[in-house]
Amino acid sequence: MGEHNRTDTRIDALLARLNGLVGADADALRTEIEWLIGRYRRLDRNLNKISRMSDRLQAEIMQLNDKLRDASITDPLTGLMNRRGAHDALQIETKAAQASQSPGFFLILIDIDFFKVVNDTHGHDVGDEVLVNFSARLTSAMRETDLIARWGGEEFLILLRETNLADAMSLLEGFHENLRSRPVKTAIGPLTVTASSGLCQYHPRDDGYDGTVYRADQALYVAKESGRDQWLLAEDPPQD
Ligand code: GH3
Ligand code: MG
Ligand code: MG
Repeated sequence: MGEHNRTDTRIDALLARLNGLVGADADALRTEIEWLIGRYRRLDRNLNKISRMSDRLQAEIMQLNDKLRDASITDPLTGLMNRRGAHDALQIETKAAQASQSPGFFLILIDIDFFKVVNDTHGHDVGDEVLVNFSARLTSAMRETDLIARWGGEEFLILLRETNLADAMSLLEGFHENLRSRPVKTAIGPLTVTASSGLCQYHPRDDGYDGTVYRADQALYVAKESGRDQWLLAEDPPQD
């Protein structure tokens, strides 16, 4: 029996006993106790109301927390994961690679070529459109298991899981080829956009994922310096 029912039973028993009493004192006592019981029931109802409200508020706070966490790791322009989210994912992936003997993940750093020219020629809004469309192109080119993040202004990081070098290379080559041969749609018409990238596999000699990102960045730098519109495979980390 619940606490509430038990109290009701005791109240009913108390009223029954009071009804059995006679005399002026008994009447006064009955009035007083009935008033107290009424008051108790009102307070009890209020308490239930407050407790339901508190449950509802707690559920809302939990939902807001989820939304806040999503917002804190999402880039508002492209809807991709932002740099902070990418750091979290890289950390998890690095720990998994360190714990297992399986080969590590791959990552790609890809940067749009001469993007400043797009902004300078067509305006910042068209630049934004290119970023949004480029992100959508990346998303459709990559697999479900890959994670795509906006790493900085016009630079993106892709984390490739459960793949091998040959597949990663052909995925990236396919993306570059598709990008150069199919212009990006914008309000001022189609724009041909190219990008440069560095592909790198996590290596146990990397100093955490920072080392992997560094080597991918070096490869990206060389891809830029040697003509852009191409991808390069990163060098292995130096021997100890
Ligand atoms: P490179 O081929 O060497 O990468 O040249 P780049 O012009 O692409 O690179 P640079 O770093 O000179 O310029 C990047 C530009 O991207 C400068 C910055 O104003 C612009 N940018 C960064 N974030 C945004 C954004 O959210 N929207 C728009 N429209 N432009 C952005
Ligand atoms: Mg650029
Ligand atoms: Mg850049």
